[in-house]
Amino acid sequence: MSKVLIVTGGSRGIGAAICRLAAKDGWDVAVNYAGNKAAAEAVAADVRAAGRKAAVIQGDMSKEADVIALFEQAEAELGPVTGLAANAGITGKITKVADMSVTAMQEVVGLNVIGLMVQNREAVRRMSTRLGGKGGVIVNTSSIAARLGAPNEFTHYAASKGAVDSWTRGIAREVAGEGVRVCAVAPGMIDTEIHATAGAPDRAARLGSTVPIGRAGSAEEVAQTIVWLLSDQASYTGGGILEVSGGR
Ligand code: NAP
Repeated sequence: MSKVLIVTGGSRGIGAAICRLAAKDGWDVAVNYAGNKAAAEAVAADVRAAGRKAAVIQGDMSKEADVIALFEQAEAELGPVTGLAANAGITGKITKVADMSVTAMQEVVGLNVIGLMVQNREAVRRMSTRLGGKGGVIVNTSSIAARLGAPNEFTHYAASKGAVDSWTRGIAREVAGEGVRVCAVAPGMIDTEIHATAGAPDRAARLGSTVPIGRAGSAEEVAQTIVWLLSDQASYTGGGILEVSGGR
């Protein structure tokens, strides 16, 4: 089976690490980004340096039309899609519940939940053997915030990742008999720019020592797990949420 992988939010952080490690594991990669074209191009250059094909595709993953266009362009440039890392996600700004606006709630849920569902749907439409596809693998990026709740920080984000977990369990069981394996990875405290975007650039450094393993994780440590789940080595792993959280 050809190895063509879409990575949403592939320009930075965990997504960029997925793209780079997946290329080393033989995947051609469609690197999706929202606004940071230069970062996506740099990731694509590394994919090509690893000897694989890369496509750089802009698209807001909270918008259905952009998700559909991403799949169509990836297929046109790289061939039939057999892997999806549904990774694009935002925390929203650190906010107490009492101060949380509906707009903030909608932005987080719109990308992390609805956007991810649409990405999964488009993948299933193409991969499902019931629908004429040749099978494939979907790995969703959740978060251990789903069970911690992220009080005083981003409870809306935690709730959105709880939805990702439920969705993953359901869709995995629905399409397992159609040649599509689905699972999720739930990272803990990972050192990426997501914390600065949330309004706390020092968050990973400040809270790293509270993690049982004694430090924040790296994007590569999460990506290693995701690329393994995408591989045939994980052929009997489906429907579960695998935590990569330093024991937190
Ligand atoms: P990050 O460093 O902030 O990178 C975010 C990536 O998502 C960027 O590539 C960004 O593209 C892209 N993106 C943002 N909004 C998008 C949109 N509307 N459409 C498409 N792409 C969009 O984040 P990260 O820490 O790597 O997080 C990646 C995933 O891991 C998220 O789902 C997050 O919830 C999850 N996670 C992270 C942590 C952590 O501690 N870092 C922990 C648990 C779970 P641009 O470069 O174009 O802006």
